[in-house]
Amino acid sequence: MPELKIYVDRLKEGATEKIEERLDPSFMEVAEESLIFEQPIELKGLAYLASDHLIVELAIETSALLPCIICNEKITLPLKLKNFRFTVTLSQIRSGVYDYGEQVREAILVEVPRFFECTGGHCPERENISKYFHNEIG
Ligand SMILES: [Zn+2]
Repeated sequence: MPELKIYVDRLKEGATEKIEERLDPSFMEVAEESLIFEQPIELKGLAYLASDHLIVELAIETSALLPCIICNEKITLPLKLKNFRFTVTLSQIRSGVYDYGEQVREAILVEVPRFFECTGGHCPERENISKYFHNEIG
């Protein structure tokens, strides 16, 4: 599993670390029928220190394959986070190395809608389903 490491010592004296990563979709550690990552995860951003905090600013880009809740067709949904930012208190980074993989994973998963409908929320099958329900009721 790839790790996303920041070496805090390298950031002392005002240095900024440029982040540019392209991660294999397996990084997401998701193995579900209803959520498939098959595109690389692109990260671009910066890491730097501000007083006693590590600050990481990232743009994250990938896409997920999701089934429509109505017709069940799998659609690729682009996921883009333009300004993902988090801070960590330096005293929490005992080893001097910070792995921010979990932050990235969570930030991406938050962007995934719980209920996804194809065609921008207008699934063509929607009408058939409501007819079906109508007939059921009588
Ligand atoms: Zn659909």
